[in-house]
Amino acid sequence: MPSRNLKGMHPLALYKIPFTGLKTGKHEFQIDVDQEFFTHFPESEIEDANGVVDVVLNYSETNMVLHLKMNLSWKVPCGRCLEELHFDLQSYERIAIQYGEETEIGDDLWILGKNEIELDLSQTILEMAHLARPSNQVHDNESDCDPRMLAFFKSDSNEKSNKTIDPRWDALKNL
Ligand SMILES: [Zn+2]
Repeated sequence: MPSRNLKGMHPLALYKIPFTGLKTGKHEFQIDVDQEFFTHFPESEIEDANGVVDVVLNYSETNMVLHLKMNLSWKVPCGRCLEELHFDLQSYERIAIQYGEETEIGDDLWILGKNEIELDLSQTILEMAHLARPSNQVHDNESDCDPRMLAFFKSDSNEKSNKTIDPRWDALKNL
């Protein structure tokens, strides 16, 4: 369960950048990402990752450009032996932002409607982290996996398949 912020602040407020009143020019921010961030997204396939996103915002009254540089360390159990693995999630995004009638959030172009006052980066950060995951979340070599766990899973799945491929017992029970 997401923990409640004692100050009464929205838990994802840290991932929003208010832009009204900014001076024209370059603004730099650093956003911390931790395990709690991912608890706000039930669909997240990442549970435990930590690190920072460096944000550069080029602001003007007619348009903005956002640069996001992500550098997270992700802890995830190996898909074969469950031993904890660490992967770097590194990613870069450039997003152009324009003003319009209706808000439309695209991959690299955002149109902001007249009532928008802040840039919500939470969904973008979530997507960047997921896209940066390696395709194989296992030890590089099976020989690096924990041999006891591999043996355990093998015997477990043999037992299960023996049970399912022997229907004779069920037939006897019905006699
Ligand atoms: Zn492994």
